[in-house]
Parts: sequence; structure tokens; C-alpha cells
Amino acid sequence: MIDIDAAVRRGNLRLRQFASDNYAGICPEAFSAMESANTGHVVSYGDDEWTTLASDMIRDVFETRCEVFFVFNGTAGNSLALSSLCRSYHSILCHETSHIETDECGAPEFFSNGTKVLLVDGENGKINPEGIRRMVKKRSDIHYPKPKAVTLTQATELGTVYTEDEVRRIGAVAKELGLRVHMDGARFANAVAALGVAPRAITWEAGVDVLCFGGAKNGLALGEAVVFFDRELAYEFDYHCKQAGQLASKMRFLAAPWAGLLKDDVWLKNAAHANASARRLERELSALEGVEIMFPCQANAVFVRMRPEAAGLVQDRGWMFYDFIGQGGYRLMCSWDTTDEDITNFISDLKDSLAKCGC
Ligand SMILES: *Cc1c(COP(=O)(O)O)cnc(C)c1O
Repeated sequence: MIDIDAAVRRGNLRLRQFASDNYAGICPEAFSAMESANTGHVVSYGDDEWTTLASDMIRDVFETRCEVFFVFNGTAGNSLALSSLCRSYHSILCHETSHIETDECGAPEFFSNGTKVLLVDGENGKINPEGIRRMVKKRSDIHYPKPKAVTLTQATELGTVYTEDEVRRIGAVAKELGLRVHMDGARFANAVAALGVAPRAITWEAGVDVLCFGGAKNGLALGEAVVFFDRELAYEFDYHCKQAGQLASKMRFLAAPWAGLLKDDVWLKNAAHANASARRLERELSALEGVEIMFPCQANAVFVRMRPEAAGLVQDRGWMFYDFIGQGGYRLMCSWDTTDEDITNFISDLKDSLAKCGC
């Protein structure tokens, strides 16, 4: 057995962290749905009742007849979805800090057989119509990979959220320029909870063709749902998933936790809790001398700048957080199970660390 208690006693491990929302465990509702699915023999590869139920629940959430596929993770979901929008000589526009550019090891290019990813800039981790237009209009000759898709991350990698109007404006310019729209929704729940809008208003009604709807960071053990609003784009997507090793044989265990998460809006409660925790963390951090908030905290992330000496001291106390995401600084993420005590403990250790290095 791994002796976690001993490691905690030695002081070099903490059971509570702000490093990522994927450090958190499985929420009870998802766990219990998984347990409910663990009875008897059930048809494999998705031809089962749990998969049908979870897919129907996702159609209810979006109030439309979308096509739904459950995959193991976000990298696969994004890459396969994007590759179904493009041919190898096309290009995909995305923000320069987007996960598909910085954190997927080239998988979107790999699964699309070389479709080029083109980077667009924009404040606070968001692309905008002007940036998209500029990149598309830059070249129109045959020597340039033809822009075919645009992807936006909701909530963004920098913890900001596109408003309904912003998504609509991107959808409109994409339509005008003949681009398909993909949304990386690893934290889609956090965006919906923050905006308080109907999910359809920031997806298909705003021009999004396909969404990767995140489950892992919202309380599942694993799993994301690829949701095609333009159902024609889902043609042969099942083969795509299978070839990429993303067709679960015991699909019920990927699907059932989704049913647990969607029932009674647990997904939104989890996200609202994570968002509220981040707001509290932001409030407490902004009161500290030597700590600067980098981006508006609109979802469940807080990015801060502080002296590396102070960050080092607080890390020496067992706190883990990343410094390579987005545009530098330190990222602190809240999750569905962040507690007030976690925040109090972190702030107290950070205060001590700041005082020690005279920040
Ligand atoms: C976590 C995350 C993903 C999915 O990552 P996987 O590790 O492949 O599941 C996708 N996009 C964003 C913005 C993320 O933060």
C-alpha cells in the first residue's frame, strides 16, 4: 500500500491542492451512478441503456437533437472533433494560449494528418472576430493552408469566460468566412454557471458546430463528451474514435457517471461551487501585498504574479501549483470540492512565505 499518511506527516505532501481541478476526486453523484451501472451483464461498445440515457440527457441539456460520443479524455475529443472538420491541407485557427496548441502534444495535427494550427492573439485568452478575419484574409493563394475551422475555449485557459455576445460574434464571422466552429469545453460547466445562460445560447444558437463537453474537471473520474450540433459532421465519427483507441468496450462505465453528473444539475452545482471558491481565493489574494492578480477571475482559476522566492517558500510547505500555463505567473485552480478551510490554509501559508522573503 502507498503510505499517504506517512508522506503527509513528513510534510511533503498535502491532500488538498490548487494545482488543477483534475487533482480532485470523483463527485459522489458520479460515483454512485457508476456503482448503479455495475450490475449484471450489459451490451458493450455503447449499445447499452446507460449510454442511451446519458446521450439523451445531454440532448436535454442542449435542447436539440445533437450527436453524442463519449471519449476518454479532452485531448482525444478535441483532436478527433477538429480532424472531422478539416482535411490535411486545411488550417485551424486558435488562440495562442489554447490547450490544443500548447498542451496536446501535436495531437490535433496528428489526428488530422497534418492540418496546420494557426495562432491568433487576443486579450485575456480570447480570440475575437478581428483577429480571425486578419488571419484568414492574410493569404488566399494555393500555397497557404486553407483556413477551415476556428476553435475557442470556454472557459478559457486563463480563467476568463466568453460572453454570449462574444461567442455569437465569432460564430457570425466564422460563417461569413466559411469556417467551422469548435469549442473546447473542458470547463464548459464553469462557463455556463458563471454566465447563467442556457447552454444552447452559447453553443449551437451562437454558431458552434461541435463541442467537447468536459467531465473530468467537473467531477468525473474521466471522460468527455463530443457533441455534434451539426449532425452531418458526425458522419463516421464512430470509426474515427475506434481507430484512435477511444471506443470504450465497457462504455456503460464511461456513460453512467455522466448521467449522475447531469441529473438534478449536479454539473452546474459543482461548477458554481468551484467558481465561487475561486472568487473567494481571488478576493483574499488581492488583499495581499506582493501578489498581483493577472486576469479577471470569471470561472474557477486565479492567476497571480509574485516573486519566485515567495512561490518557492509556499511550495516548500507542500503546496503545488503550475507556473507554465497561459502567460506565466502562477495558476491556482478551484474544484467542485474546494473548501473554505483549503483557502484559509493556503492564504495563511502564503502570508508567512511573503513575510519571510520580505515581499
Ligand atoms: C484539461 C483540459 C483539456 C483536456 O485535457 P486532457 O488531459 O487531454 O483530458 C482540454 N482543454 C483544456 C482547456 C483543458 O484545460
